[in-house]
Amino acid sequence: MQGYIIDIKPVKDDDLIVSILTETSILTTYRFYGARHSNINIGYKIDFELEDTKSTIPRLKDVIQLGFQWILDYEKMYCWQRFVKLFYPHLKELEEIDAFYFYNLDNLVHIMIKQNALRAICESYITILEYEGRLHTDYECLICENKIIENISLVRGFLPVHAKCTYSKIFDLKKIKELFEQKKLINLTDEEVEYLWEIILQGL
Ligand SMILES: [Zn+2]
Repeated sequence: MQGYIIDIKPVKDDDLIVSILTETSILTTYRFYGARHSNINIGYKIDFELEDTKSTIPRLKDVIQLGFQWILDYEKMYCWQRFVKLFYPHLKELEEIDAFYFYNLDNLVHIMIKQNALRAICESYITILEYEGRLHTDYECLICENKIIENISLVRGFLPVHAKCTYSKIFDLKKIKELFEQKKLINLTDEEVEYLWEIILQGL
């Protein structure tokens, strides 16, 4: 089986509870601390086997790390790990998940070979919002419920608000429309992309 490690919790004796996003579910597994073990880290894509135990949590074994081309790029890896970590609180309550999430991450790994990490992640996040039906292209302010015709601002979940209703960063509406409707970030400055990244870090 293959999956992405989205959460790690240390338990007694250096053992770990490892949560893995696979094509169809979020698996909670138990990792015994052993003499031979490959690296386990948030964001890693792994191939693995599960072994049933007396406990309700299956044992994680035969772990092989599947590398990314940019795994040694510290910058990219740092952003990637912070992003992938957000999937745990977002999906953990669900017993079954759609393959969309797994393949969306696969796709992002590929895109990040060439593209700037934050821009690639923002673009990927837009596809998640769209898939979940949470992309608000009606451009109505969450606070006052009036139409936004200029000076848009975004809050958690990229919900649109008037800049004047929240006193937060102003974006050109045209640029946000491009982002939401064409998934184009080309006209956003690096500073703006970093601001969007900070919003994503508040939670998917
Ligand atoms: Zn408003």
